[in-house]
Amino acid sequence: MIDDHNGVDVHDISQGAFPSDPSELLVRWEEFRSWTSELAPLGWEHARKPLNHHDFGPVANNPRQIFAIGLNYGLHRDEAGYADATAPVIFAKFASSLCGAHTAVALPSDGVDWEAEVVAVIGRAGRDIPADKAWDHVAGLTVGQDLSERTHQFTPPSPQFCMAKSFQNFSPVGPFLVTTDEFPDPDDIELGCYLNGQAVQTDRTSNMIHSIPVLLETLSKVVELMPGDLIFTGTPAGVGMGYDPPRYLRPGDELVTWAAGIGEIRQRFHAKTA
Ligand code: ZN
Repeated sequence: MIDDHNGVDVHDISQGAFPSDPSELLVRWEEFRSWTSELAPLGWEHARKPLNHHDFGPVANNPRQIFAIGLNYGLHRDEAGYADATAPVIFAKFASSLCGAHTAVALPSDGVDWEAEVVAVIGRAGRDIPADKAWDHVAGLTVGQDLSERTHQFTPPSPQFCMAKSFQNFSPVGPFLVTTDEFPDPDDIELGCYLNGQAVQTDRTSNMIHSIPVLLETLSKVVELMPGDLIFTGTPAGVGMGYDPPRYLRPGDELVTWAAGIGEIRQRFHAKTA
């Protein structure tokens, strides 16, 4: 990518040395980064093409694992009614819910909520990754929307996060994967979302209870993190569940989820037809 509106095809500019497919490229991420670091900026210019954001698929299209973190911002933890967050709350989203940055979403019920998030994309495998080495394992950051169907999530006898967050098109990630060197401070990124043009969530990742490096350390004590894996890092206060009465997504609503220095995801909702 060169800017928001122009990009290059990795396969073309590398004369076939690297694949365009994000999942194949992320497996060779370190090799690719060392190749790009030797390429002068002018090496990209001749190959630039206009980008159409509507065509974008998810920035990581075939992850082996998708983790998500609950209750990771203090005000959101409060609105969800939990007092304590000493350990991260970890669940999964399933890969068939992934989609690109511009999506039409069929609402499976009248209980679908929004959760704006920054998503970390793994670029280097590892177990037992210490927090102070964690950024070396991150290919980059992107915007994610952790759509959540609250009726499924809270149906007794116990919460069911994974299924409630894995309906079709419930996991947009995009529009771009931004390498961490592009941010003034990758631990302090402003994010939020707008519902029908009205700001409903805004915060900064520096207010996360468990930072991205700590999340990698915690996850990798149990599982091996692998290139292309995604970590939804938690949502700020301002979800629909926190309203009295709750305000969930309705047919015709438009949700724009954004993060500074990355871009925005735009989703429009419609009723599910039988
Ligand atoms: Zn979430």
